[in-house]
Amino acid sequence: MHDLFGDSVAYFEKIYESATKAARFYGFERIETPVLEDTRVFTRGVGASTDIVEKEMYNLKTKGGNSLSLRPEGTAPVMRAYVEHDMYTRPQPVKFFYFGPFFRHERPQSGRYRQFWQFGMETIGKGGPAVDAQIVSAIYGMLSDLGVKNIVVEVNSMGDSKCRGLYKGVLKKYLKKASLCADCKKRVTKNPLRVLDCKQCVEIKKEAPQIVDYICKECREDFKKTLECLDEAGVPYDLNPFIVRGLDYYTGMVYEFFAGEKEPLALGGGGRYDGLCELFGGGDVPATGAALGVERVVLAMQKAGVKIEEKNPQVLLAHLGDLAEKKSLRLLEQFRKANLPVYNCIGKESLKGQLSRANKLSVPWTLIIGREEAIEDNVVIRDMRDGSQEKVEMKDAVKEVKKRLKG
Ligand code: AMP
Repeated sequence: MHDLFGDSVAYFEKIYESATKAARFYGFERIETPVLEDTRVFTRGVGASTDIVEKEMYNLKTKGGNSLSLRPEGTAPVMRAYVEHDMYTRPQPVKFFYFGPFFRHERPQSGRYRQFWQFGMETIGKGGPAVDAQIVSAIYGMLSDLGVKNIVVEVNSMGDSKCRGLYKGVLKKYLKKASLCADCKKRVTKNPLRVLDCKQCVEIKKEAPQIVDYICKECREDFKKTLECLDEAGVPYDLNPFIVRGLDYYTGMVYEFFAGEKEPLALGGGGRYDGLCELFGGGDVPATGAALGVERVVLAMQKAGVKIEEKNPQVLLAHLGDLAEKKSLRLLEQFRKANLPVYNCIGKESLKGQLSRANKLSVPWTLIIGREEAIEDNVVIRDMRDGSQEKVEMKDAVKEVKKRLKG
């Protein structure tokens, strides 16, 4: 679990800004579910035999004996909220986005944390190719706007529960004969699709049967239409028959986002999950969604050489002595009310240090409250470019600064 400060915060804020802007543009409203949920939200919603639930979830028992879990992903909680708040009574579909921390007890490595942040989008209540494509297109556009280079969207179809059953049988048969790692040997019976995600058992994919050959005519037609929608939205994609996502709830099209040419970085993924609402007792409700790993997007932006420009204020407020520092507080309030950003030096002692800060930030104007000015309720406005300065009354400071900034 990591602390967020300094540079990483600047990237986070930039991503948050772009994500919120994109989500709202496409008509998604914000939802933030609690970080702790009843464990059953995930055992039921994500699937008890998935790695996330079986191995990676942080579970705790309350004094009252309830089993709670730190949320490892966002889709199941959003669906829980949809059902809990009877959201099928609203005009459909309902479209949500979220941006928050998630928790998985994974082996730490570069770009993999035990607390990480995700931005997610979910459309619930109405489905179809265009609905799926809209989320892919929104995320693709947002990543492009953030300056991420070489974005690759890999797509596949998981069919529906019926055609996937057929494929699972065929895959199981094939895997039983293949040489697998110890984990995958267990997965073959419980969750054979998960073997296709294994980083160790890559060789078996060469000959493995592909799900697209087993999905039914309707699912194939639906997949084709979704790809046409992606074409229409201008999203390039690659077909990858082995994108199966680790979670049980997907049906129909699934996809993952990658960035970078060499050693592509997995940024996120999603797909359709028409069966999930039923698992929460909410009936047959179509749904689709995706999530991006925020730390990964930061890495991708840094890899692409994206720099975050800090907007420095045009004005710095310096003081000399305790009384002047106290008067700074009053002056700062005047600037806040006028919505004029000022870099403040509250807590800093030497005037020399404060002025050298002004030079570092290249602010064109510095306000200085010296000992005399503090007593007289005046302030000096100094033009940092030529060193010229003028004393004005403190009450006129905002007006005087505005005049100079305009000039
Ligand atoms: P998933 O919910 O597993 O499909 O993950 C979606 C995205 O979240 C991944 O592609 C990563 O970008 C990010 N992600 C998942 N797990 C982690 C983690 N442990 N640390 C950092 N990012 C993660």
